[in-house]
Amino acid sequence: MNVRMRLQPEAIGTGMTSQRVRDRLVERLRDNGIGDERVLNAIRTVPRHLFVDEALATRAYEDTALPIGHGQTISQPWVVAKMTEALLADGMPGKVLEIGTGSGYQAAILAALGLEVHTVERIGELLRTARKRFRQLGLNVRSKHDDGRIGWPENGPFDAIIVTAAAPALVDALTAQLAPGGTLIAPVGASSSQSLLQLRKDAEGKVSQTTLAPVVFVPLLSGMID
Ligand code: SAH
Repeated sequence: MNVRMRLQPEAIGTGMTSQRVRDRLVERLRDNGIGDERVLNAIRTVPRHLFVDEALATRAYEDTALPIGHGQTISQPWVVAKMTEALLADGMPGKVLEIGTGSGYQAAILAALGLEVHTVERIGELLRTARKRFRQLGLNVRSKHDDGRIGWPENGPFDAIIVTAAAPALVDALTAQLAPGGTLIAPVGASSSQSLLQLRKDAEGKVSQTTLAPVVFVPLLSGMID
C-alpha cells in the first residue's frame, strides 16, 4: 500500500465491520480467483462499511452490491477487485480516470494503491457524500460533477480509465482520452447481458479488446442531476 489512510476508530470498525470480517472477505475473493496481492491489500485496508448507509454497514463485507440511494449501487467487491486487477496487470498506471463515482469505494481503492485518481459522477448528492468520505480517510481524489461520457479532457490523457456503469457500446470520447500504452475497463451491453471489456491502446494508438467476465452494472446515463 503506497498511501497511508487516516483510520479513526469508526473506520477500523467493530463486530461485523471489524478487521477480522474484512480479512474474511479478502480470503473469499482469493478463493474466487483474485490473486493480485496489491488489490487484496487495498480491499483489506479500505473500510467499505463507511461507503454505505449506516443501516447497511453490517452487510458491507458480504460479496454483494448494495443500494446507495438514487437507484444506484456500490459495486460487488469481487467486481471492484477484478476491474482493479485488470487495470494493474500491465504495470502500475499513474493517472486514472473513473466514470461513475457512486459511493466512492472504487476510487478509494485506486487512491489507496497510490494512483492519481480522477473521478466523475452525474448525481451531485452522491458526489458530495463521496467527497466527505475521501476527506475523512485522508485520500487524495480529484472529482467533478458532470456527465462522465465526455470524460475529463482537460486532465487527460489517462494511463487507465475505469467505467463503472454500463453502456450499449464503448464511449469513443473516453477511448480518445486513453494514453498510448493505456488500458480501459468498461461494462458493455444491454441490461440483461453485459460483459466486462478490457481495451488496450498500444504505443502506436492501435486498440485491441478482450472480454473479462459477465457482469451486471447500473446504466451509464446522460446529463447531470443535483
Ligand atoms: N464506482 C461506484 C459504482 C457506482 S454505480 C462505487 O464504487 O460505488 C455507478 C455510478 O455511475 C452511479 O453513481 C451513477 O450515478 C453513475 N453514472 C451513471 N451514468 C453516469 C455518467 N454519464 N457520468 C457520470 N456518472 C454516471
